[in-house]
Amino acid sequence: MRSKKQFLTSAFAWLTIFMVLVLAPLVLAMIGHQEESRGFWVEFGVGLGFVGLAMMGLQFLLTARYSRIGAPFGLDELLQFHGQAGYIAWAFIVGHFAVLFLADSEFHKFLDPTVNFPRAVALSGVLIAVTLLIAFTHWREKFGIIYEWWRLSHGVLALFVVFVGTVHILQVSFYVSELWQQIVWVGFSLGAIGLLMHNRVWRPMQMKKRPWKVKRITEESPTIWSVEFEPVGHDGMEFKPGQFVWVTLGDTPYKLQQHPFTISSAPEKRNSLRLTIKELGDFTSEVKNLKEGETAFIEGPYGNFTLSESVATHNIFIAGGIGITPAMSILESLRERHDQREFTLIYGTPDVEHTPFREDLKVLSSELNLKVVHVYENPPEGWDGEEGFIDGGVLKRNIPEEHHQCEYFVCGPPPMMDAAESKLTEWGVSVHKVHSERFNIV
Ligand SMILES: Cc1cc2nc3c(=O)[nH]c(=O)nc-3n(C[C@H](O)[C@H](O)[C@H](O)COP(=O)(O)OP(=O)(O)OC[C@H]3O[C@@H](n4cnc5c(N)ncnc54)[C@H](O)[C@@H]3O)c2cc1C
Repeated sequence: MRSKKQFLTSAFAWLTIFMVLVLAPLVLAMIGHQEESRGFWVEFGVGLGFVGLAMMGLQFLLTARYSRIGAPFGLDELLQFHGQAGYIAWAFIVGHFAVLFLADSEFHKFLDPTVNFPRAVALSGVLIAVTLLIAFTHWREKFGIIYEWWRLSHGVLALFVVFVGTVHILQVSFYVSELWQQIVWVGFSLGAIGLLMHNRVWRPMQMKKRPWKVKRITEESPTIWSVEFEPVGHDGMEFKPGQFVWVTLGDTPYKLQQHPFTISSAPEKRNSLRLTIKELGDFTSEVKNLKEGETAFIEGPYGNFTLSESVATHNIFIAGGIGITPAMSILESLRERHDQREFTLIYGTPDVEHTPFREDLKVLSSELNLKVVHVYENPPEGWDGEEGFIDGGVLKRNIPEEHHQCEYFVCGPPPMMDAAESKLTEWGVSVHKVHSERFNIV
């Protein structure tokens, strides 16, 4: 369990390490450097390039799915940071070209194909690649790019930028003249490639050794399905309730299609892992057609949207729609462990029919110290409970007066999450007591 101080300390340490790594190339370049300065703008432009490239390389680390790197943040926060860092890296790299181009006409030759054709093509390619990285991410849906193809192009384009950038630094060699400096930069580039390989080759290899098969499919609501998997030839997965996994369906784990889903069952049931999936796009709409016995590969667990983060005696879950999955895992685990901590679940859904786990929640509330507050957008006739959307009014009526002492777990559609988070902040609930998990990471 973490206190506010521990959270702030680890967040500060994390950011400090990140900044040190981003600025390290500048320090590295200065060591043993004896050449005369070429003027402020040229040196400034070169510095932008070094920092931009370091940020690009670190992006591989941020997305490498190492839980220690993610701590103390959640996946969504980490990926938001990755996104923002991407924009900054783009600005630094484009700035590197622009400043040097304007500062001294001597640098025009770098993009001039009549001087050095491969170099001009590679460096122009970097400008295009780094811009496409941003454009494809920002306008992926507008361009109609399928998620899997976007993900593949993202990795390939980023790798191209890091590789050409490193070769460029070594070729120019103005600040990297020593052998050890060159080794560091080659190591940096190989590190980025290694991280990608680890993610896309080594991890699927490990998953192949621990396959799962579909055991049962249950309709939870007209558009939500629970799929139970059982381990084949191994003893399942250890996880904390609230964590999520990446799933690949079919005979091989080496596929572009890999989707994240929160485990909705309790970890105490080692021989059965349940995912509850809402139909949304091409992959999730096919889940209902899965057949018993079909093979799946499950990578994880990931995430820190778990009760073990909480030091409160009263925890409040604010969920919308499919955002109920982590709460189900947590509640079922509390039942398995006969844990009688106080829990309130404020759960927004369109109507009774579109409320997954409605009966299970009724049973859980009789077995646990749990109050379930359903908030229906379209309530049934004669309903005297909450209705509409989860807003300040709903929250105020259902969270205790001593709301500062509670911890909050927010998961659901973005507007609901934004509304809940901003109300809690407005009421002075400390940021480290509000845990959020966003399902729409890109
Ligand atoms: C941490 C986390 C936990 C999640 N838990 C659940 C859950 O318990 N139940 C549930 O129904 N959904 C969950 N989701 C959302 C689920 O991953 C997406 O709905 C699903 O991947 C959509 O795939 P699709 O091809 O059907 O839809 P598409 O129409 O292709 O995509 C819809 C949106 O889903 C996201 N998405 C699509 N493919 C991927 C992918 N491979 N990786 C990451 N995001 C993707 C993108 O934002 C995309 O815009 C979770 C997401 C995250 C990040």
